[in-house]
Amino acid sequence: MAELRGALIGCGFFAVNQMHAWRDIDSASIVAICDRDPERLKVLGDQFGIERRYTDAAALFAGESLDFVDIATTAPSHRSLVEMAAQNRVPAICQKPFAPTLADAKAMVKACSDAGVALMVHENFRWQSPIQAVRAVLDSGDIGTPFFGRISFRSAYDVFSGQPYLATGKRFIIEDLGIHSLDIARFLLGDVSTITTRTARINPNIAGEDVATMLMDHKSGATSVVDCSYATKLAAEPFPQTLVEIDGSDGTIRLEQDYRLTVTGRNGTAVSDVSPPLLPWASRPWHNIQESVVAIQKHWVACLASKTEPATSGADNLKTLALVEAAYAGAASGEPVQLDALL
Ligand code: NAD
Repeated sequence: MAELRGALIGCGFFAVNQMHAWRDIDSASIVAICDRDPERLKVLGDQFGIERRYTDAAALFAGESLDFVDIATTAPSHRSLVEMAAQNRVPAICQKPFAPTLADAKAMVKACSDAGVALMVHENFRWQSPIQAVRAVLDSGDIGTPFFGRISFRSAYDVFSGQPYLATGKRFIIEDLGIHSLDIARFLLGDVSTITTRTARINPNIAGEDVATMLMDHKSGATSVVDCSYATKLAAEPFPQTLVEIDGSDGTIRLEQDYRLTVTGRNGTAVSDVSPPLLPWASRPWHNIQESVVAIQKHWVACLASKTEPATSGADNLKTLALVEAAYAGAASGEPVQLDALL
């Protein structure tokens, strides 16, 4: 397969991981980068030796012949950039959160579908190897039919120093982190019919909620709890680990701190270490997320080659984004929210 030519738009905090991951993938490379901030463009361009640089996305599309674009900007710019990609018939990866509103996200999916170009949301948490290990146990049938799940992310890690915008938005943990946990719940237990949500703001120095607890009915009949917090001080800081509990008709799965996986199934109990590898460019504690960036980008390249829909396509991600919208609506009203009405 000829090497795919990609461009990256948005040279900020997280894009560095995506650039490292592209260097790890032989069949694709980033040939041009874009950021409206010339300083950020220069820093990333110099770090990765990319000479073709643009401060305007329209100029990037006009000036380059591209097989895909990797959009790593924050949500307010996603719709215009994805629609620009569709107009230029360039397949697009878009970072999460996919869009500020579900209406924007639906328009983005339609624009790419009408243009016949692939669209994948960079929803990478389900690609973390410990989460894939849990999925593999479910697929093995060892614990039977799941009836309960808990997807938990509780931490007091300072995410604000690297991503200062997280402290200023009216929405915080559900939109930024809970979105990943909700996607993992869908990945492990299937689509959701109803969600009930409670939120709190513990840190007085931020604008949004930093604690959220969500109870979900899955269409499969399973019930799950998705809980997340950036106000939880623990003896050993687990950031950025997602902990998972699943109970099934024939056994249980526990993904505990330090990537310890305990499976109790038909053949007894097995404990294994499912720690992600520390890639040469990665750094603890982010290595879990960094490895998943390589995995999702490899998946994108494979999907483009085989012309198949990515697991976290734009259309799929509407269901995750709808959970975010429903969680905020339910937190405000105190009532359960039906998902089908939003989709
Ligand atoms: P950031 O603010 O550090 O970087 C965003 C960059 O995009 C900035 O340099 C900005 O100048 C540029 N930009 C914005 N609009 C633009 C436009 N229209 N054209 C060109 N450049 C533009 O943000 P970040 O922390 O890197 O986050 C980026 C996205 O990645 C966010 O949506 C965030 O939620 C997401 N993120 C994902 C993960 C993950 O694990 N998937 C982790 C962290 C952040």
